[in-house]
Amino acid sequence: MSSITACEICKTPLNIWQLDSENELDLCPSCNHVERDMKRCPSGARRHPWGGVGAFDRFRLALTWRSQARALQKRNVDPKDLLEIGFGAGILLERHLTEGRNVQGSEAEMLERPVGDDLLQRIVHHKVCAEDLSLAPESIDLFYGVHVIEHLLDPCKVFATAAKSLRPNGVIHFVTPAGDSLGLKFFGTAWWNLEDPTHIRFFSPDSLKLALSKAGFDRIEIRRPWWDSLGVESASLLRRLGLGNNSEHGALGNSFGRVLLLMMMPLFFVLRTFVPKLRPSLEVVAQKRIV
Ligand SMILES: [Zn+2]
Repeated sequence: MSSITACEICKTPLNIWQLDSENELDLCPSCNHVERDMKRCPSGARRHPWGGVGAFDRFRLALTWRSQARALQKRNVDPKDLLEIGFGAGILLERHLTEGRNVQGSEAEMLERPVGDDLLQRIVHHKVCAEDLSLAPESIDLFYGVHVIEHLLDPCKVFATAAKSLRPNGVIHFVTPAGDSLGLKFFGTAWWNLEDPTHIRFFSPDSLKLALSKAGFDRIEIRRPWWDSLGVESASLLRRLGLGNNSEHGALGNSFGRVLLLMMMPLFFVLRTFVPKLRPSLEVVAQKRIV
């Protein structure tokens, strides 16, 4: 069934994707972009946007750091000035500071994660949503965000801001849930990425590539990282069993859920290895098009 709204990326009329009798998403038949209206797809979401585990976050951010460093090296970019949108607790920004880089970050503090005063004194902190950033043109070399663009009200505006603020050859790097992950098809409403009430879209490789190309980027490389959100499948199974639905911090908000997740994780890790499309995230690196 078609809905009246058009895809925010390619403007094709969206189809309704009925997950169950109470939940439906909008799916673009052209670019596979997925949009979510919380009123039509509540999916037993937790009440607070934060539903992770601090130790898991540090592990995946260490691997995100490694992946970003490799991408920069491959493209021969050594960023002097950089900006992270939605920097959370600032773990990656700290590492960039130790490399002697000039660091900026935007954080609307939705997750209420603790950020040290010491860090805030050493960075340029934009206390605004990414859509409201005002940056000097051609002033930075790296613009990135880890699990942020799925929350934005207007991601295309943010991509345009990124393109304008980057120097020639400047790089963007984003990690975001994959709307075409087999996990969403398999777990349906229990897919852990639907537990976050502020996840309002899921990019596909096609929609991400199109949005970035329109904003002025090329050399767009998209991968499905094995290392991101390692607990998604286990947490989705816990949600399917009814654990944590509609609670404050979701399936991983209690220690029982975390122990079960650790026990199941190796099984899903093996599945991810053999079925890459099960991986729940997309990682994109691209460079500002030189005109
Ligand atoms: Zn589309």
